[in-house]
Amino acid sequence: MLARTLIAIFICASSLPVASAQQDPVPRIDRFQAGYYHFKLGDFDVTALSDGTLPIPADVLLTGAKPGEVAARLAETYQTTAVDASINAYLIKAGHRLVLVDAGTGELYGPTLNKLAASLGAIGYQPEQITDILITHIHTDHTGGLMDGQRIVFPNATVHVEQRELDYWMSAANRARAPDSARQYFDQAAAKMKPYVDSGRVKTFSGATQLFPGIRSIPSPGHTPGHSFYALESRGEKLVFWGDLLHVAEVQLPNPAVTIVFDVDPAAAAAQRKQAFADALKGRYWVAGDHVAFPGVGHLRADGDGYRWVPMPYVNDYYVPALK
Ligand SMILES: [Zn+2]
Repeated sequence: MLARTLIAIFICASSLPVASAQQDPVPRIDRFQAGYYHFKLGDFDVTALSDGTLPIPADVLLTGAKPGEVAARLAETYQTTAVDASINAYLIKAGHRLVLVDAGTGELYGPTLNKLAASLGAIGYQPEQITDILITHIHTDHTGGLMDGQRIVFPNATVHVEQRELDYWMSAANRARAPDSARQYFDQAAAKMKPYVDSGRVKTFSGATQLFPGIRSIPSPGHTPGHSFYALESRGEKLVFWGDLLHVAEVQLPNPAVTIVFDVDPAAAAAQRKQAFADALKGRYWVAGDHVAFPGVGHLRADGDGYRWVPMPYVNDYYVPALK
């Protein structure tokens, strides 16, 4: 989750001018960026889709780091603590199914986001064509795009989500127990998910589940109670969609113990991260992160006690038809 309002609260708390926290970010580009990236994973066609980017104050949002560590690690990668966080989703063409992994932010996070439909349109698909949506977790930077106000954006899709995740966010008792500042997230989650629940379009699963041929869920509770990875496997190749396993790769890859204020259970989230990083290195498979710089697909390599990101090499070798 990269909650805009909460970020504004934290920015205010860190004594930056209130005005700057309340203004929308100043854009640095003045036209649509290419918001898709195609690649193959065995027999599957996969496309990374950008919902946009959002500047976040990494030093304020990340927790459990040593004093100065966040700024120092980002400086090593030529960045400040004002990190441009990507919001990514992924489209998998699986036989007759069009499967979306997460659904972007919708209107909730301001004018730099809500570009998922445009990214999808740029590759020739309409939201009506999506048959299935795999939700990694119900934070609204992953589910906001399910609804456009009162309108169901994906009217023909079945939304797949872990049972505990749905139960957690739909629970009035959990909402009542949450601090005042967090209640709006329960309300937003309900606004985005409930229309799909009420129209019978949500299908839950419990724990590790084979959802379709070559696509299965892997439980990874911590960031949220029912947070799930999705593994895609074909012809000996494997890609694991990590959802919100990590938020700022430049900090959390070298130090997986660093957490974020949005973790429901920070200790469990850190343990999941440590285990998932080790497994990805050992298994040498592809991974994709919803907040890793777009397209957010790559491998891990070992670096000292931690890890480093190795982005998927850029490929653009489609034959121009007239020159075939
Ligand atoms: Zn998120």
